[in-house]
Amino acid sequence: MNKKTLSALSALMTSVRTSPRILKAKPSINFFLLNYIRRFQVRKVGGQVILHSHLPPLNSRAYARFVDEHLLGKSEGPSHAQIGLTNACPQRCVYCYNRDRTGRRMDPAMILRTIDALREMGVVWIGLTGGEPLLSKEIVEITRHASQDCAVKLFTTGCGLTPGLASDLKGAGLFSVCVSLDHWEAGIHDRGRDYPGAFSEALRAIGIFKSAGLDTCVSAVLSKEMIRTGGTETFLEFLRTLEIDEAWLSETKPSVQAFWNEDLVITEEERRGLAAIQDRWNKRGRMTVNYLGHFEGGDHFGCNAGSKMIYIDAFGEVSPCVFTPLTFGNVRERPVGDIWNDMRSRFAPSSTCFANANFRLFQKHTDGRIPLPPEASRALAREASFSPPARFVRLVNGRRKETG
Ligand code: SF4
Repeated sequence: MNKKTLSALSALMTSVRTSPRILKAKPSINFFLLNYIRRFQVRKVGGQVILHSHLPPLNSRAYARFVDEHLLGKSEGPSHAQIGLTNACPQRCVYCYNRDRTGRRMDPAMILRTIDALREMGVVWIGLTGGEPLLSKEIVEITRHASQDCAVKLFTTGCGLTPGLASDLKGAGLFSVCVSLDHWEAGIHDRGRDYPGAFSEALRAIGIFKSAGLDTCVSAVLSKEMIRTGGTETFLEFLRTLEIDEAWLSETKPSVQAFWNEDLVITEEERRGLAAIQDRWNKRGRMTVNYLGHFEGGDHFGCNAGSKMIYIDAFGEVSPCVFTPLTFGNVRERPVGDIWNDMRSRFAPSSTCFANANFRLFQKHTDGRIPLPPEASRALAREASFSPPARFVRLVNGRRKETG
């Protein structure tokens, strides 16, 4: 048995100790998980056993809930949620999925109630996003509240971070943090964010989070140009010098009008190329590479927008994921569970990215408002295409014969 398999078995045993009931899952599911875990070097940060930061730590109560409620219990609720704490942000990224969203901000009490409802529905992983979530005065309280039963991850530009705040967030139970960094050249990163000094702010924040003992990642949005010209690995080499725990990669998505363009959407070949880069880098170890298109690819967990993933923006609008400019209702007007049931009845788990496959319908159905209002979102969902579910979903649901 090689070192990789032994390390994967040890990680699997950690998850078995946390949640012995996983042994009741079908052998094909445990075999899938073993093979998936083998693709990573499991890391330990502050007592947490982490595969990558899109999943709760393997030794956490949140992971045990994931096993109980989603693997064995087959919950119809979401497992993953992102919540916008504010839309305010000093930076102005051209690709920001929130740039055209407007409205009246949810107050802290509403955010806490929404988190409670999401937890009841089955959410085990919560991403706090924005805008710049550090601008929320209640971020520590919200993190503490959400961390009780969920793995809480923060997405930030790093602007405004102080050592005291990083330490308070850690004390509140924050699981992991992603600081945004899109290029190894300061000028290019700053221009993309229309914010001189964004690069140095990000590096400063990374240092502070690391000193606080937090699991520290970089969230990078890869441009089509970087992917096409082979710059991804140059970028990863740079990120490795920062001694971060994980590079969380995604590519620009067609979630805002400027990117509703065939030429700007990643091809399947490019997605596979990035997934191969991830596997290659993770074999080497030292820094985890976690590319969204690997996790969400057809061989793994697939696209679960609206079927396991939910996004509630800072104004309370409910979307299938952060990258889908749709709303199926506002938590001020309807319980989030009702909105979820409505949205879920219109979405199917898919082996390809819903946004990439259906962005032309965003163009067709918009009247200029982003997100598209509920009626337009429902009409769009009726026309949308969904590819067959990804391998993991097929195994869990047993809907199709596994051909793997
Ligand atoms: S629509 Fe795309 S970005 Fe959103 S959850 Fe699906 S795969 Fe991920």
